[in-house]
Amino acid sequence: MSNKDETVLSNEHTPLFANESGPIKEVHAFWLAGMSCDGCSVAAVGAKNPSVEQLINQQIPGLPKIILHHPVLAVEAGHRFMEPYYKAVRGELGATYVVLYEGSVADEDIAKETGGYFSAMGAQDLDDGTWRPYPTADMLDELAPGAAAVIAVGTCATWGGIPAAIGNVTNAMGVMDFLGKDYRSALGLPVVNVPGCAPIGDNITETITAVLMFLAGVGPLPEFDELGRPAWMFNETVHRGCPRAGSYEEGVFADEYGQQECLVELGCWGPVVQCNIARRGALGHNGGCMNVGGVCIGCTMPGFPDAFAPFYKTPPGKFISGTASRITGSFIRPLRKINQRKSNMSNRWLKTGSIPSGWGHVEAPGVVMKTIHYFYKKIQTSDTPFHPGGTKQQRRLQFKSRSVMAAAVKRSDKRAKETAKAEELL
Ligand code: SF4
Repeated sequence: MSNKDETVLSNEHTPLFANESGPIKEVHAFWLAGMSCDGCSVAAVGAKNPSVEQLINQQIPGLPKIILHHPVLAVEAGHRFMEPYYKAVRGELGATYVVLYEGSVADEDIAKETGGYFSAMGAQDLDDGTWRPYPTADMLDELAPGAAAVIAVGTCATWGGIPAAIGNVTNAMGVMDFLGKDYRSALGLPVVNVPGCAPIGDNITETITAVLMFLAGVGPLPEFDELGRPAWMFNETVHRGCPRAGSYEEGVFADEYGQQECLVELGCWGPVVQCNIARRGALGHNGGCMNVGGVCIGCTMPGFPDAFAPFYKTPPGKFISGTASRITGSFIRPLRKINQRKSNMSNRWLKTGSIPSGWGHVEAPGVVMKTIHYFYKKIQTSDTPFHPGGTKQQRRLQFKSRSVMAAAVKRSDKRAKETAKAEELL
C-alpha cells in the first residue's frame, strides 16, 4: 500500500508529468478482477459514448493511446497475457499505466489460512520455489503505488457491494478501503470510484477518458465528490431525472408492475439514491431501471445492498413524502386538467365553440370553464404588455382582413356566376 505525500487537488492542479516529461502518449490499462461477476466488463464493452473501441483506437483527440490488458477481451492467454502485469509489478514496464479494478477485494489472509485463495489471476512465485494462483488483491497492492491512477469500476470495487453484504465470510471490501485513506497514485490521485451494479458503460468509459485527459495535461481535473465519484454523474438523485417523477409529485403511484406511474410503493429508492441512470439510460441512451419499469434498489450507493434490503418493499420514508404528494396532488391535478383543457383548444375553436375533429367528440368549454379560463388568463398576463384578445390595433386589422376576405369571396362568387351564365349562352 502506498503512503505518498498528499497532493493538493484542484482544477488549478497541473500534472507534473505533463509539464516535466511531455504529455502522456501511451497508457497501459491493467484490468483486474476481484470478487466480481464480470458484469462491469460487460457494461464497459457496451459503452457507446465513448466506446471501448474509440478508446483503444485513439479516436478521441488528445487522448493517449490505451493498451488494454483485459482477461476476458485479450487475444493472448497464459503467460503471454500475464507478462505485462508481472513487468509492471516488478517496475520493469517502462511505461505509464493505470489500474482498473472490478469486483470487491477479498481478505486473502482468510483464504491463505487454509491454503486457498478467493480471486486470482496468473501465477505468483513463492519463496520456496513453488507457485500459487496470484491473488488479484496482492497484485492491486503491488501495482497501485506505481499507477498513474487507480479506478474502481462498479459497486463491488468502490464500496464492497454484494460480496461485502452482512454475513459474508470473505471480509470483502472496496478498493478505497483496501488501499487506505492516504493512498495516492503516482500522479497524485486518490482512488477514482465509478459505482453501479453494473455501472452504466458510458459512465465507465467517460470517467477513464476524463482522468486520462487530465493526466495527459489536456483537460482539467474532473470534478469528483467527497467519495471520489465523478460529481457530474452522481451529484443528483435518480428521482430528479426519472420520467415518473411527475406522477410522484402529483401523488399518483403504481400498485403493480407494468403501470406507468411512480414505482415508490413497489420499493423504489430513487428519491435518495445518487445515480444518473434515468437520464443517461443503460446502453446507448436506452433502457435503465425506472425507464423500463424497474424500481431503484440503490445499487450505486455505499450502503448497497443491506441499506435497501429487503428489495421491493416500500421504503419507510415514502410514508411522509408520498402522503404529502397525495394530499397536494389531489387538488393540483384537477387544476392542471382545467388548464390543460384550454391548452388543447386553438383560438379558432375557442371563438367558434366547435372542435372539428374526426377522431372523436371534443366538448367545447361551457360558461363555467370559459369564466375560469378568462380569469386565469387575466392573472397570467397581468403586469405584462401582452393583451389576451389582441391590442386594439390588432383587432382593427383583424376586422379589416375579415372584410377583405369577405369581399374576395363575394368577387369570386360573382365571377363564378358570370362564367356559368356565359356557358349557358353558348
Ligand atoms: Fe422517483 Fe422511483 Fe418514483 Fe422514479 S419511480 S419518480 S425514481 S420514486
